[in-house]
Amino acid sequence: MEKEYAMFKEDFISKKVGIIGGGQLGKMILNESVKMGIYTVVLDPSKDCPAACLANELIVGKFDDKDALKSLAQKVDVITYEFEHISTEVLKELETEGYTIYPSVHSLEIIQNKYNQKLRLKECDIPLGEFIRIDSIDDIRKIGKEFGYPLMLKSALGAYDGKGNSLIKAEEDIEESYKELGGGKLPLYAEKFVPFVKEISVLCTRGINGELAVYPVAENIHKDSILFETSVPANITVEEYNKALKIAQEVCEAFDGVGMFCVEMFLTKYGEVLVNEVAPRPHNSGHYTIEACVTSQFENHLRAVMGLPLGATTLLRPVVMRNVLGEECYDGIARVIGVNEALSMPEVHLHIYGKKMTKPKRKMGHITATGETLEKARHSAEKAYNHIKIISKQE
Ligand code: ATP
Ligand code: MG
Repeated sequence: MEKEYAMFKEDFISKKVGIIGGGQLGKMILNESVKMGIYTVVLDPSKDCPAACLANELIVGKFDDKDALKSLAQKVDVITYEFEHISTEVLKELETEGYTIYPSVHSLEIIQNKYNQKLRLKECDIPLGEFIRIDSIDDIRKIGKEFGYPLMLKSALGAYDGKGNSLIKAEEDIEESYKELGGGKLPLYAEKFVPFVKEISVLCTRGINGELAVYPVAENIHKDSILFETSVPANITVEEYNKALKIAQEVCEAFDGVGMFCVEMFLTKYGEVLVNEVAPRPHNSGHYTIEACVTSQFENHLRAVMGLPLGATTLLRPVVMRNVLGEECYDGIARVIGVNEALSMPEVHLHIYGKKMTKPKRKMGHITATGETLEKARHSAEKAYNHIKIISKQE
């Protein structure tokens, strides 16, 4: 552990919350904790992390640093996390010592291994695409014959924003994909390619007594495996909508978790809804809830882990969210351009996460546009998106 920083001292509500990770999700949780006067301590390896400007205290340390995690635990009443790739070894010890961690370390451990996550979902009869564990390059050849091509090869651990996935288009690409994902050093599994017509997601918060707060179905578009756009309400049938809500609640129950869960799903042309993956935390496809719902995903996550009653999830207005990524060819200290033009549309909101350095495709912020209709919201989001660029400053 490098250092601890006391930023602000006020503690208005007796329960203190610790957050592992001070990235954009941590920062957006803190927007809500500051609003509600909740005392927070953040653990992050960087003292310049996006959440640093809002945390009451910041512990600079690695996510597997035992002393740092212990110090965090001692300072707060409940620990939560903004991302799932954390070593669970120390967290388990802390839980055994009586510290409270939500969602539980047990559910985190299953979810953070995408293969084990799928096994658990299968056990609970949640509809999924076909998948199989891969132990060798020969296993991929065999399953290629059975599942056909394209075939999705995935790393079971540490994947995000498509990093850790490799689409095998034909048998001759197997070797390259296998190498790309570590050549057998990381646990791998394969998924049959799902020819989806849409991607959707549902956020579901589970309170300490098992109560659920479920958000409307969101429709997502990914580009290069990174979320590009989320729009709500999703343009799907009532049957598909109800199926998605039911599945999301079942997934939440399957992990017996407390806090926010996001269930990413595929919709096929036959009206099937298949789960892609689950995140045990607020999610990029739920950023729209800040401006467009009665209670944001971040506030409800906080309320859940603190044992407070959950807020309403009602959608107030049609909404479109677009991610703002680092521009191609710019690598360095970030600068945002086009802000005036983007904000000249009155229903556009701009979020800049405060990451000091930009690089191509790094998530640097997002735009949310609400509108009287989804078409109007999309029009504003598209226009704002075309103005906002993240480039780098000449030093
Ligand atoms: P994120 O961090 O954005 O959630 P990730 O790295 O965890 O992404 P996945 O959700 O597994 O990765 O996959 C990223 C995207 O790749 C999906 O949203 C989907 O567009 C595509 N994809 C993943 N698995 C499949 C599949 N079996 N069939 C078809 N497309 C897939
Ligand atoms: Mg995903």
